[in-house]
Amino acid sequence: MTVQAFRFDPVRLPPETELLREDVRDFIADNRALMQPLPMGYSPEFSEKMAQKGWVAMTWPKKWGGRERSALERYVVLEEMLAAGAPVGAHWVADRQSGPNIMRFGTQEQQDFFLPQIAAGKMYFCIGMSEPNSGSDLAGTTTRATKVQGGYVVNGTKLWTSNAHRATTMILFCRLAGVDQEIDRKAGATQFLVDMKSPGIEVRPVYNMLGEHHFNEVFLTDLFVPSDRLLGQEGNGWKQVTSELAFERSGPERFLITFRLLVELVRLAGPDPEPSVAVAIGRLSAHLATLRRMSLSIAGMLERDENPNMEAALVKDVGTKFDQEVPEVARLLFPSEPELGALDAYVSVLSRTMMHAPRFSIQGGTREILRGIIARGLGLR
Ligand SMILES: Cc1cc2nc3c(=O)[nH]c(=O)nc-3n(C[C@H](O)[C@H](O)[C@H](O)COP(=O)(O)OP(=O)(O)OC[C@H]3O[C@@H](n4cnc5c(N)ncnc54)[C@H](O)[C@@H]3O)c2cc1C
Repeated sequence: MTVQAFRFDPVRLPPETELLREDVRDFIADNRALMQPLPMGYSPEFSEKMAQKGWVAMTWPKKWGGRERSALERYVVLEEMLAAGAPVGAHWVADRQSGPNIMRFGTQEQQDFFLPQIAAGKMYFCIGMSEPNSGSDLAGTTTRATKVQGGYVVNGTKLWTSNAHRATTMILFCRLAGVDQEIDRKAGATQFLVDMKSPGIEVRPVYNMLGEHHFNEVFLTDLFVPSDRLLGQEGNGWKQVTSELAFERSGPERFLITFRLLVELVRLAGPDPEPSVAVAIGRLSAHLATLRRMSLSIAGMLERDENPNMEAALVKDVGTKFDQEVPEVARLLFPSEPELGALDAYVSVLSRTMMHAPRFSIQGGTREILRGIIARGLGLR
């Protein structure tokens, strides 16, 4: 058996990123009132403001509204926004994965139509992968597309679809009806770019533990998708979705969601903390610094057009473990009764983070699935 090794080549941020970082921090200070205990709030206004600064679609070609900046410059913008709790949720999916997927697999017409609107912070995507009986086992998707005159008719149900109720477009993952899957379960897998205003789409809310409406169940009933909204090739959906997931798993959002709680923790500990408190915070800080180096290294791989699939799975697994550990450590060091509306910043941020923590290791691929990918990448499986 050949055992492969991870590659996390060190990356040094180029000096020009420091000026950019200052610019982002000024922007955040000007928009302080919009910052939240956890990042990823949904604000089309904020997305448009970021786009005007050139911070959406930063690395894309100028012909599609991009700025042709480097993946490392983009990284700096993302980490500052996340650390501050910026409401970047509206454009996040389109910027991170849908746009790059369209760039790679879309037709010229699709690129010219979708990419400039994403870059302007005006077009928001949701991800139509999971279904009631197919989450981890994406190849088990039962949503079917049947070929008809001028396009396809789609029937099925998607579940946990984040922001389906406010996105403009869904990248839908389904399978072509009539394709034999006896030998290959992934045969016939296909992706479509679906206008969320199309007749035949019903979006029903699923409320989370906080009573918030973030994700949904989406019913697709005789939904007509025109032929020019097929993304890539019929039957090539598995390859396409895998490349999309690598983008989904590699970013700093996999370990910076709880950063504001860490800051509150440090503030509460004060300048002269007890040794046990100092050790616990020191340990978290060391983990954070290491995760950041690993994640930056992936940004370097994306910059070089390499495939970071296995490394991204590792960062997501270790990163979400870290994000779940921060509220646990905080709770042990400075216990408090959960109170969402607390005036005390620490109590309020801790309560909210505790309620969100379980999702970190489920969304974007569960821990067990990621470890399977890592084992395969290492040649152990
Ligand atoms: C906050 C949040 C947002 C989400 N947003 C979206 C979205 O926008 N779009 C979308 O498509 N999906 C979304 N999801 C869904 C998410 O991708 C799925 O929940 C996830 O893939 C797990 O699928 P499942 O819920 O069907 O669980 P299952 O796949 O049924 O898994 C249940 C348990 O079994 C384990 N398991 C399953 N298979 C194996 C295996 N082969 N080996 C070992 N263990 C296994 C899993 O790790 C898990 O612990 C979101 C989920 C959350 C929590």
